[in-house]
Amino acid sequence: MTLSPIPAVAVRGVTHRYAGADGRTLLALDGVDLEVGAGEFVSVVGPSGCGKSTLLRLVAGLLPSQGGEVSVLGGTPGEAQRAHALGLVAQEPGLLPWRDVEANVRLPLDVVRAGDPERVRALLDQVGIAEFARYRPATLSGGMRQRVALARALVHRPRLLLMDEPFGALDELSREAMRLELLWIWEHERIAVLFVTHAVAEAVLLSDRVVVMSGRPGRVRAVIDVPLPRPRSEAQESTPAFAATAAAVRAALRSGDAGAA
Ligand code: ADP
Ligand code: MG
Repeated sequence: MTLSPIPAVAVRGVTHRYAGADGRTLLALDGVDLEVGAGEFVSVVGPSGCGKSTLLRLVAGLLPSQGGEVSVLGGTPGEAQRAHALGLVAQEPGLLPWRDVEANVRLPLDVVRAGDPERVRALLDQVGIAEFARYRPATLSGGMRQRVALARALVHRPRLLLMDEPFGALDELSREAMRLELLWIWEHERIAVLFVTHAVAEAVLLSDRVVVMSGRPGRVRAVIDVPLPRPRSEAQESTPAFAATAAAVRAALRSGDAGAA
């Protein structure tokens, strides 16, 4: 038997409840299993409210685990976080308004007191914001701000990037541009990515595998392999393999709605 590398994420039988305002509890996740291999790109798609952000927050160590197992890079989410092995990009870029672009990207390095100005510069170039290094976030477009958030998440060379609908608030053109930049970065950094989206075509274009969740309580309905060659490009969106994979994802999304209008 060959030794397999440690998966970036291993989630087994994870259940999560929130306390409701009326004293009752709300079951957000019910027995979820999910794995992201080292260097793999995995997307999670599912309807709004199915627990995607909850799942991502559990993996990021931002929510305490209540039931089941969450292993990140072979340890606990907290250990991965303390080892600076995680990068997180949320839907809102969450930049510090008084810091310029470069200082926002450098923030994690300032916090852990380990600087790599070369890395900051290279990332500003890579995500196409080098010429805006001295701008404050308020003067940038939404797409530019999300590029800053992406560069900041990558600055400490994480081994796992967690992205929660990172392009959800962007217009369609910025969104397409960001997808291609993310693909390019992933090809070069070779890190594992767990990407949450409700856009099926986006999940298929980016991913090695697409995890399809049911409506609340979130359960995994299907895990669909994406058989498209790498490197990916927009041109693949018009291939039969792309259409067939997207159709399989959509069918899995609908599969629990039998009888519904
Ligand atoms: P998604 O990201 O798929 O839209 P979430 O993980 O944000 O879903 O939420 C899953 C369910 O849990 C939703 O019904 C949501 O209202 C509920 N929920 C999320 N966060 C909390 C919270 N802090 N307290 C109570 N309920 C919550
Ligand atoms: Mg969410």
